[in-house]
Amino acid sequence: MKTFLNVLEKKFDLLEIDQEVSTILEASKILRKYPKKTILLQNMKESDIPVISGICNTREKIALSLNCKVEEIISKITEAMDNPLPIKKVHKISKPYTTSKADLSKLPILTHYKRDGGPYITSGVIIAKNPESGIPNASIHRMLVLDKNLLTVRIVPRHLYTYNQLAEKQGKNLEVAIAIGIDPATLLATTTSIPINANEMEVANHFHRGELKLMQGENVDLQVPEAEIILEGEILAGERASEGPFVDLTDTYDIVRQEPVIKVEKMHIKEDPLYHAIFPSGFEHRLLQGLPQEPRIYQAVQNTVPLVKNVLLTEGGCCWLHAVVSIKKQTPGDGKNVMMAALAAHPSLKHVVVVDEDINIFNPEEVEYAMSTRVKGDDDLLIVPKARGSSLDPSALADGTTTKVGVDATKPLDKKEKFERVSLSE
Ligand code: MN
Repeated sequence: MKTFLNVLEKKFDLLEIDQEVSTILEASKILRKYPKKTILLQNMKESDIPVISGICNTREKIALSLNCKVEEIISKITEAMDNPLPIKKVHKISKPYTTSKADLSKLPILTHYKRDGGPYITSGVIIAKNPESGIPNASIHRMLVLDKNLLTVRIVPRHLYTYNQLAEKQGKNLEVAIAIGIDPATLLATTTSIPINANEMEVANHFHRGELKLMQGENVDLQVPEAEIILEGEILAGERASEGPFVDLTDTYDIVRQEPVIKVEKMHIKEDPLYHAIFPSGFEHRLLQGLPQEPRIYQAVQNTVPLVKNVLLTEGGCCWLHAVVSIKKQTPGDGKNVMMAALAAHPSLKHVVVVDEDINIFNPEEVEYAMSTRVKGDDDLLIVPKARGSSLDPSALADGTTTKVGVDATKPLDKKEKFERVSLSE
């Protein structure tokens, strides 16, 4: 991660804070104040390890980590998902790592908000192996600290959930490794929705052009991406503990649930480590969760209307609930078909705006311009009540349904000249 930080520092502002900051509510005040900056908190009150946050809190920083332009992020992710690259070399965990018995109190784990369940690890990538097929999985999960070596972890019903269920059925604990402090491209790979029999680390390896470094666990038979901090342990079969409250990407509180418990045994810490804190509901959280959904929407829309320019889950819409799609409209009704495809492709999506290719969807003012000049409310809205929505949407009904809205902000094809924007060259 340090290598990326050096590259980042040359192109973006790095805000370095030398004064002493507490992990309890103080650090989060600073992170909330500068939502788009990369922040290095050098002097943590409760730990010797500095905190880094905001390494991928803008699309520009993510594009830098993927070595592409902002408009090319979707195609980069798609290319990596379609072409996972097997990893040949695995390294031993040795110098510059120091290994010890796990003690989470040594880490600067932040307590972000007053009503939080406690200190939360927010950038931890959990690596585990399918107990039946042996196929590895890597995914980010929030983890609440219960004790020096105990965590409770929110696991939504996806791959890790399935692996843990298989292990519990056999009455066995599930071995896990937790990587904290990894580069944005690898982090992004762990949030892609690839099939259960595919390996996220091979997607990451594609991003790294075959240069991804994996480390072999000592107590656990798992390969972990090179990270500032590596924890080894296991999910305890049948154990559950309260997880939450926690602020989710909608900037609202998620509920308390009974979730699995991880016992951490070993801890490997790099020389001069940095602890990566992803600020809950901040842009880093939103982008990492939402970005990998954009290729899915793009593909679904492309099956409907061939000339799609780009797709965006907007930062204002928490990178989850609002999408903007730009297309080259060819036939009447294209806009409406695009809405339906987008809403079906990402079930959590609530509102979608479709615009013409002359609108830069990365600029919210341009999107509003299209909505104000090209939309007629009685013709251009699609309203779908009682559709399945996001569990994170505070306006969803108790049964999980919500109302989906599509806005067709494309120009009508028959009176195009009336809508044409002026150009200095004409
Ligand atoms: Mn997986």
